[in-house]
Amino acid sequence: MLSEISIQADALRRNYRFFESRVGRDRLAAVVKSNAYGHGLRQVYEILAPLDPAWLCVNYLAEAQGLRDLGFKGRVLVCGPFTPDEIPAAIHAQADVFVGTPQALAAVLAAPAASPLRIHIEFDTGMSRQGFAPSTAADIVGQVSARPEILAGVCTHFANVEDVLEHNYAKLQLQKFEQIRLTFVTHGMRPLFHVASSASTLIVPDSVMDLHRVGISLYGQWPSQATRLSFLSESGDVDGLEPVLSWHAPLTSVIDVEAGQYVGYGCTYRASRKMRIAVIPIGYYEGFPRAVSGSSAYVLVQGARCHVIGRVCMNMTMIDVTEVPTAQVGDRAVLIGSDGAESISAADIANWADTIHYELLTRLNPDIPRKIIY
Ligand SMILES: *Cc1c(COP(=O)(O)O)cnc(C)c1O
Repeated sequence: MLSEISIQADALRRNYRFFESRVGRDRLAAVVKSNAYGHGLRQVYEILAPLDPAWLCVNYLAEAQGLRDLGFKGRVLVCGPFTPDEIPAAIHAQADVFVGTPQALAAVLAAPAASPLRIHIEFDTGMSRQGFAPSTAADIVGQVSARPEILAGVCTHFANVEDVLEHNYAKLQLQKFEQIRLTFVTHGMRPLFHVASSASTLIVPDSVMDLHRVGISLYGQWPSQATRLSFLSESGDVDGLEPVLSWHAPLTSVIDVEAGQYVGYGCTYRASRKMRIAVIPIGYYEGFPRAVSGSSAYVLVQGARCHVIGRVCMNMTMIDVTEVPTAQVGDRAVLIGSDGAESISAADIANWADTIHYELLTRLNPDIPRKIIY
């Protein structure tokens, strides 16, 4: 592929240290699922390994095995669905797994006692996605008391921290979780209790517990604008996060079009004047959303904003370089990152496409080369 992604090692390290200094080494679980939020699992692991992370989080068991194959010796926590047939693979990967269904719990409890499988029982305190109902806590304590050594954690996940400036719903979830915690503790069980992802680690002080599953912000991205505003107003701190990823592509053709000429599929764009148009070799297959077509989306060429015109194609996108008369084939277009005084964030593209940067980043095609900049 002709486009290239650059990963800033320093920025990733500083973001990691930022969270490590807030929660402590043993309580930080960097989330590297979904190809490390599109940044490249291998590259991100290579940068983080020298920092000796105690924990890493993934979604799939195969991702946990991938980390073992790269040489990771710390704890790997699989937060995605876990099914009984995955028990041997989980033992092989020496993974910690989320358990949130009666089937999985029963299978784990019935597995041979010599197995080193460690489970984190997930409770659904308000997300309605995965986990046991809070009302079942006492029953689960009863079941697990037969095999207390396999219980490594008890956890939940917030539904509504990123999208709002007040956190009433998160507080409700925390109250439910506190009841669950008490149920375990009063039965003499003291696993790791954990609830927090990036946003709650940053702005919900009561979510400070034994483990923090920090994903998006490790990569220098605020979970949302609301989270950033809350953090800045509460901490009075400077912006502690640095974006890690940039994406650029060469111009592969530059052409002149006459007034009245159409550009792209569907003839949705018609030049109202003589224009110069350039093509960049990325489209929706590479992860540049087709949904930005017709929006105010732009890329940077020679530090100038050049608007996307017509529809984004599968592997190509047309941009208006009329105002950059020296633009030529081979010039570098910046899709994410900065050029001169201008910059474009993953969240900008996500906004143009009416989605979120989580989706934008994780859908960057894994075949695009990721180059670490040291
Ligand atoms: C993805 C995920 C996280 C990380 O969330 P961020 O908002 O990216 O920090 C934490 N916990 C669970 C269960 C997740 O699925």
